[in-house]
Amino acid sequence: MPSTEWKISSSLLQDLLAASKRSHPNEFIALLSTLEKNGRFVEEVVVIPAVSGRDYAALHSELVPFDPLIVGTVHSHPTPSPYPSPQDLMTFARMGDFHLILAFPYALSGVRAFNARGKRIPLRVV
Ligand SMILES: [Zn+2]
Repeated sequence: MPSTEWKISSSLLQDLLAASKRSHPNEFIALLSTLEKNGRFVEEVVVIPAVSGRDYAALHSELVPFDPLIVGTVHSHPTPSPYPSPQDLMTFARMGDFHLILAFPYALSGVRAFNARGKRIPLRVV
C-alpha cells in the first residue's frame, strides 16, 4: 500500500527554509498545522519556546498547545544529513504524524518528510 501523500504550501516551506538559515548553526524547530481537521495540507507554522544548539533542538512539550490542527514538527539539521536521529524518532513518535527535516544548506533538495514511525513519506509542494 503506497504511503499517503502530504502537501505543503510553497510559501510556508520557503519561510521554514529561511528560518533555518537564520538559526544556523543552531537548529530551528517548530510545530506544523493544517487549516482543516484531518487535513494533509500543511499551511501554518506554530512557533513555541524551544531550546536548540548545534546538534539538538527540543520543544518544551508542556508548552505545546492542545490543538487538533497541529499535525507534527519541523526542524533543521545544520549538517547535510536529512535523516532523523534516535532523539528525533522519539520526538516524532509523540508529536503527530508529519515531520519535516530541513538539512543544510536549506534548499528544497534537503527537505524530507517522515511519519510518526520515522518512515519517509511523499511530500508535494504546492
Ligand atoms: Zn534532527
